[in-house]
Amino acid sequence: MLLIHPPVAKPSEPPGGLAKLAGALKCHRIQHSILDANLEGLLHLIEGSSTASDRWTVRALRSRPKHLRALREKSLYRTPDRYRRAVADINRLAEMAARRSSIHLSLVNYQDPGLSPLQSSDLRRAARQPQNNPFYLYFKDRLETLIEKERPRVVGFSMNYLSQALCTFAMLGFIRRHWPELTLVLGGGLITSWKQRSGGQNPFGDLVDHLVAGPGESALLALCGITGSQEPLPQHYRPDYDLFALGDYLSPGPILPYAASTGCYWNRCAFCPEKAEGNRYVAVPADSVMADLGALVKRIRPSLIHFLDNAVSPALMEALVDRPPGVAWYGFARISRRLADLNFCKALKQSGCAMLKLGLESGDQSVLDAEQKGIDLDLASRTLRNLQKAGIAAYVYLLFGTPSETIAEARSTLDFTVRHCEAIDYLNLAIFNLPICGHPARELETQTLYEGDLSLYTGFRHPKGWDRGLVRQFLDREFKRHPAVRRILLRDPPLFTSNHAPFFGMANLQ
Ligand code: SF4
Repeated sequence: MLLIHPPVAKPSEPPGGLAKLAGALKCHRIQHSILDANLEGLLHLIEGSSTASDRWTVRALRSRPKHLRALREKSLYRTPDRYRRAVADINRLAEMAARRSSIHLSLVNYQDPGLSPLQSSDLRRAARQPQNNPFYLYFKDRLETLIEKERPRVVGFSMNYLSQALCTFAMLGFIRRHWPELTLVLGGGLITSWKQRSGGQNPFGDLVDHLVAGPGESALLALCGITGSQEPLPQHYRPDYDLFALGDYLSPGPILPYAASTGCYWNRCAFCPEKAEGNRYVAVPADSVMADLGALVKRIRPSLIHFLDNAVSPALMEALVDRPPGVAWYGFARISRRLADLNFCKALKQSGCAMLKLGLESGDQSVLDAEQKGIDLDLASRTLRNLQKAGIAAYVYLLFGTPSETIAEARSTLDFTVRHCEAIDYLNLAIFNLPICGHPARELETQTLYEGDLSLYTGFRHPKGWDRGLVRQFLDREFKRHPAVRRILLRDPPLFTSNHAPFFGMANLQ
């Protein structure tokens, strides 16, 4: 079996989902190979560039070896200006390498002005014309060599982001044309959402043999003739990173992605896609998580653990405090009573917690209540102050334009942010999208937001007139212009954002 992580996604860490599948296959002694075509493809374009017609690209080419080396060393993350220059230059090389194919490529995104990843007919077109993809020369050679050598029977793609869709289909089309006998499987987070949207159908049946929603371990094992009961809980497999080139990712030492749960233990926020899709909360028992982390840390010696959970559970936090993994870690957490306890935050810091990502969404209590966030602003305030005192960075996520918000509540969010600007290290600002699936979409007057039969969101007439254009205007003209907010926004690592942010605050960077 061959498992592929297609371009484009942030090339800072190996894909946790594929590692999980590799763990399941290894456990059942099923021969498999891993291809991180995202990392390899981007490096192929970046390292293959040799011509430049402007001063920036000439400079980027000259500094390329130095920048690539530096992005993999901790010292760069002590000097944000040098870091910014390195990221901008390396990104410039990727961008210019794809310009010939008229693709807007960056280290984290892929946009084709002529093809939409939300349109199934465009994905089919990408599959019919793989030679137009800027990664074509890379994946053609790589797949020919790999498939001839490994002779897989099944090829699986894991697709989690829209930025991967067009390249995934280009690669699928290429494989289908050259090796029609292979069984093609497509899974990952985006497929889970698409399949849910299409009522479980496979809209690409002529191209892909199996579309897998949710965790793919049992589906892949079943293809290999291994079946087992999924009830009451799916079997847990330890992720396996042995087949990933961990030294090649653009990070200062390997990052270990680990999912201790799927779904969300809160699962109540109105309009949350997890909730709208009805994804079940399944947590790996804390003892198994700690055993996995112990073994993985020993084996791959990561510089950072990245918890992929929608929210790290209080039980897992307790376990990390009791048995620190010996490596810095970060992830999403819910603002909770536990974090409002300064001693607990200090204990978390001792356990290695470098940063927590907090989905605050709004600084207005009436909005938080209407959206069922289950967050009390006093608690949020104490949490932020405690994290600051404990030395844990706070990456705060704000969401504007929810149905319960108007400009007055958005201004309360601005006030809250300014009042806590010393305790907020990083900010992510987003404009609300209404998931197509789920009950609330049926209660609002909807209108087309995105072109495309695969769109997961729909536009809506805001019940209080606070439409997207007005929200965008407020963010650009008022929110982002406040000096306290601007200072926070300027700190955000360009392109890599939260994936690199923890490295900037880690005192032990050598
Ligand atoms: S905490 Fe996050 S993942 Fe959980 S329900 Fe709320 S928005 Fe969804």
